[in-house]
Amino acid sequence: MRKKTQLIHGGIVGDEQTGAVSVPIYQVSTYKQEAVGKHKGFEYSRTGNPTRFALEELIKDLEGGVAGFAFGSGMAAITAVIMLFDAGDHVILTDDVYGGTYRVMTKVLNRFKIESTFVDTSNIENVKQAIKPNTKAVYIETPTNPLLKITDIAAVSKWAKDLGLLTIVDNTFSTPYWQNPIGLGADIVLHSATKYLGGHSDVVAGLVVVNNQKLAEDLHFVQNSTGGILGPQDSWLLMRGIKTLGVRMEEHEHNTIKIVSFLNNHPSVKKVYYPGLDTHPHHEIAKKQAQGFGGMVSFDVGSGEKADQLLEKVKYFTLAESLGAVESLISVPAKMTHASIPADRREELGITDGLIRISVGLEDAEDLIEDLKQALED
Ligand SMILES: *Cc1c(COP(=O)(O)O)cnc(C)c1O
Repeated sequence: MRKKTQLIHGGIVGDEQTGAVSVPIYQVSTYKQEAVGKHKGFEYSRTGNPTRFALEELIKDLEGGVAGFAFGSGMAAITAVIMLFDAGDHVILTDDVYGGTYRVMTKVLNRFKIESTFVDTSNIENVKQAIKPNTKAVYIETPTNPLLKITDIAAVSKWAKDLGLLTIVDNTFSTPYWQNPIGLGADIVLHSATKYLGGHSDVVAGLVVVNNQKLAEDLHFVQNSTGGILGPQDSWLLMRGIKTLGVRMEEHEHNTIKIVSFLNNHPSVKKVYYPGLDTHPHHEIAKKQAQGFGGMVSFDVGSGEKADQLLEKVKYFTLAESLGAVESLISVPAKMTHASIPADRREELGITDGLIRISVGLEDAEDLIEDLKQALED
C-alpha cells in the first residue's frame, strides 16, 4: 500500500457493527465482563479504548512498527519513552531538541537520576564522543528547530545498534508521510501530533511507535501505569486529521518552495535555512532519508528591529508558537521558543535576534509572498 492510500486505509477503518465508514468515538471508561476477566479485549479505558486503539493501529502502520501508543501530548509521549530507562541510565540527545524535551530531561527526569548529554548529532563524531559506560540511548530530533539541521538517522542507528543502544527519533517536523525512522534502523519514533498530524491547531496529542514486541510490552506497561493517555474525542480528531496528511504535506511543501525562492532573492534577507536548498549543509542527507523537505523555513533579516517590523506588518502569518497547521504561523525563536538560552550561546548557534521562523500554511502562496514582500519593505 502506498502512503496516501495507507493514510485512508491503514489501521482500523470504520465500524464492523454498523457499517459506519468513520471509527466511532467510544466515549466510555469501562466495559462489561461476561465473567471475571472474560471480555472483548477492553477492560478499562486507561488500559485500552477502541477509538484510541484505532489511532494507535494507524500510526503503527504509517511508521512501519510493531505497536503504536497515543498520549495526551507530545511531552507526555516523550516522558513515557524516557521512563523506559532506570535511574543511573544516560541518554545522548540532539543539542537543539525541542525546548520542552530539554526542560523535562534537565529539570524533571534528572531528579530521577536519568542523565543526559546534549550534542550536535548532525555530526556523528559528537555522538560517539558523548558515550559513557551507562549510555542506553541516542535521542535525535531531525530536522531541528529553528535551524533545520539534519541528523543521519541510518548512520546513528547503525552505530547505536552495534553497541546495544536504542535510537529514538522525534519525527514531528517530517511526519511519517516524508520520513520513516524505523525503516532507517531506529527503535522508537515519536511525534508531537499537535503539529502536522492533527494539522488544524485544534488537538494536543503525542504518538509513539516501537519496532519490537519487548519495547511494545514495556511501553504499554509505562503508559498504563502512569496514565498519560489520549482521550477518545481527541483520538478521533487526530484520525480525521491524518486522513489528509498527504495532500496537506505536499501543499505545505509546494508553498514553502515558492516562499524559499522569494526569500533567497530578497536583498533584506541575509540567510535562509531550508533543507531543500542545495546550499543547506545537510541537503544530501535530507534528500537521502526523507521523501520531502517539509513546510518549515527560517530566515535571518539581520536585526531584532527588522524582525519586529516584519512581525508588525504581516497580515496572513499569525504570531504564535506551534507549527504544522493549515494557517501560516510566524515566530521569533530568540524571543519566544529559545528565550531561555543565553544571548551569546544563541548567537553562537545562529539563533540571532533577526532570525524568523515560519510554518508555511495552506493559503495561496502568492498571497503569502505578497504579504512577506510588503512586510520586508523599508
Ligand atoms: C511541539 C513539539 C513537542 C512537544 O509536543 P506537545 O504536543 O506540545 O507536548 C515535541 N517535539 C517537537 C519537535 C515539537 O515541535
